[in-house]
Amino acid sequence: MSIVDQLRAAGCVFAEVEADLLREAAADERHLADLVAQRVSGLPLEHVVGWAEFCGQRITVEPGVFVPRHRTELLVDLATELKPDIAVDMCCGSGAVGAVLQRRLPEAAVYAADIDPVATKCARKNLTNVFEGDLFDALPHELQGRIDVVVANVPYVPTGDIQFMPAEARDYEARVALDGGTDGLEVMRRVAAQAVRWLRPGGHLLSETSERQAPEALTAFTAAGLQARLVTSEDTTAAVGQLPA
Ligand code: GLN
Repeated sequence: MSIVDQLRAAGCVFAEVEADLLREAAADERHLADLVAQRVSGLPLEHVVGWAEFCGQRITVEPGVFVPRHRTELLVDLATELKPDIAVDMCCGSGAVGAVLQRRLPEAAVYAADIDPVATKCARKNLTNVFEGDLFDALPHELQGRIDVVVANVPYVPTGDIQFMPAEARDYEARVALDGGTDGLEVMRRVAAQAVRWLRPGGHLLSETSERQAPEALTAFTAAGLQARLVTSEDTTAAVGQLPA
């Protein structure tokens, strides 16, 4: 069977495109056969080829790490417009958000943090200042009260909804990158509560949410002491919070 046919039989909708990407990633024919087998067994394409396209940039993505979604590009665009001198990619996963911000704003100091050592190891391939730990505890203390923009694509899937996610996410991405607790907002509430100590006055917290969760996300931001609003684009919603100046 041709590679395209094997991929199609495995349910890959964009079999031709995927076949080209697998060919590009393979060192030789044997390697190619191995990559095709991995993809056919269900691994996300990004984990097989080792990268994902995000904001037009190739981001290294290693097995087990959350694959950057195009919908998250909204957060990066909003963060870029704020022209931060100091920016943090919180819950960074592969570090895609931080890596793109650093490329767009070469003068900025961009930091990234994640609790998952598999993610931070991967993120270090995409940007320089990567820290491991629980939310803001991961960051150098001298950043307290000085951060212009925190971008936090937190895990926000309600625990009970993870079973309804595509198998590629459910089976191959770290649970800690997806599971937002009972209502999906547990990590976001903790990020908002802590962010007020780390942002400079007037600084911003940007977080991705879903349309359904957006009202609760606003409540979480407001309860933390942020002035909050929503920004919606086609398929994504961002909660935007500002620490009063
Ligand atoms: N539903 C979201 C997605 O799959 C979950 C992302 C997240 O938890 N940050 O893109």
